[in-house]
Amino acid sequence: MTAQTGPLAELPLWDLLIHLSGGRCQCSGQCGNQHAAGQGRCEHENGGFISKHAGPIRLLVAPKDAHELIRPAHQQARLSACDLAAWCPPCHDNARTRAQREHRKALAELQADTTDALF
Ligand SMILES: [Zn+2]
Ligand SMILES: [Zn+2]
Repeated sequence: MTAQTGPLAELPLWDLLIHLSGGRCQCSGQCGNQHAAGQGRCEHENGGFISKHAGPIRLLVAPKDAHELIRPAHQQARLSACDLAAWCPPCHDNARTRAQREHRKALAELQADTTDALF
């Protein structure tokens, strides 16, 4: 039996993810915006416009889990397609900022706990 590679396997990851997402940002509130207008999902589409002044949206392929967004790029690169999602730039940036803030808060709490334990 020979391993079959379908046409999807030939596509670069970005094309695959954009195909799977239907060309639409897959953020469902991780960025802090509940996206009520899109029934809980961001309405930004690849090639669409956020505002009259900005250029067309180029969706980004990044980890689906916002907490993975703060990992270094070489670690993100190891994730497979099922752990990735299509993000529009504003959702991606806001979700990452939120994850960073939570991460720092968790670290600070951890340090506070350690300090408490010492005294
Ligand atoms: Zn979005
Ligand atoms: Zn969003």
